[in-house]
Amino acid sequence: MSQIVKIKSIEKITHDVLKIVTEKPNGIKYNTGQAVDVSINKKDFEQELRAFTFTSLPDDNFLEFIIKTYPLHKGVTNQLRSLTIGDELIIGGVFGDISYKGEGIFIAGGAGITPFLAIFKELEKQNIIGNNKLIFANKTKADIILENDLKHLLGKNYVNVLSDEKFDGYEHGFITAEIIKKQIHSFTNYFYLCGPEPMMNAVLNHLKALGVPEEFIVKEAF
Ligand SMILES: Cc1cc2nc3c(=O)[nH]c(=O)nc-3n(C[C@H](O)[C@H](O)[C@H](O)COP(=O)(O)OP(=O)(O)OC[C@H]3O[C@@H](n4cnc5c(N)ncnc54)[C@H](O)[C@@H]3O)c2cc1C
Repeated sequence: MSQIVKIKSIEKITHDVLKIVTEKPNGIKYNTGQAVDVSINKKDFEQELRAFTFTSLPDDNFLEFIIKTYPLHKGVTNQLRSLTIGDELIIGGVFGDISYKGEGIFIAGGAGITPFLAIFKELEKQNIIGNNKLIFANKTKADIILENDLKHLLGKNYVNVLSDEKFDGYEHGFITAEIIKKQIHSFTNYFYLCGPEPMMNAVLNHLKALGVPEEFIVKEAF
């Protein structure tokens, strides 16, 4: 039972990432960190479902999505780049395995930050951001989604890792076991992991090597 919603605002927040706010469909229910199947209400695109995570909170009276676009794929996200206010999306089924279970280390690659943005928003709202930490991997500084907001929210508990650029204060290369280990402290319980499959597999191996039990890993591949 999908529903059509109108776009209320659409803006670029990095060179290839869009923030899209839409109307909220009647009766939709979702948990913070979950995603939904979305398609574009345009000829040839209605059946092209793609998963996007709500970065709005369940009680908000709108939906918000933060979407990395891939012009080279010539797929749905490329088409989203041409949409404007008043264009329509089709909102389908809600799903997703990521939810907040307690304090821990969030490890994201690229658009894999989106479920964590929703969770951080919720924690900030409840004033319980605590000692949660974020390790955020991107290719370049220009690819980092909402860097200033994350810095403001997490302060010293935020580590950027850039694979293709070197900057003071930013780790260079891929996420290593060493980078993760540096962030672990006595009360670290959970490890939240979201990003592209190769990054996820590498980080899962690091967590295994560090002796993290599987039941403390909360993950979703993008
Ligand atoms: C649970 C979940 C939640 C998600 N939430 C978000 C989110 O909040 N924000 C977000 O940005 N993303 C999110 N994603 C990822 C998002 O769904 C994909 O990035 C999106 O589906 C890509 O759609 P696309 O049509 O642009 O490209 P694709 O579906 O990847 O590809 C379209 C076409 O391009 C071709 N193609 C594929 N790869 C390449 C390539 N490297 N070069 C050239 N052509 C290629 C393919 O043949 C395909 O037919 C989520 C994924 C999951 C599973």
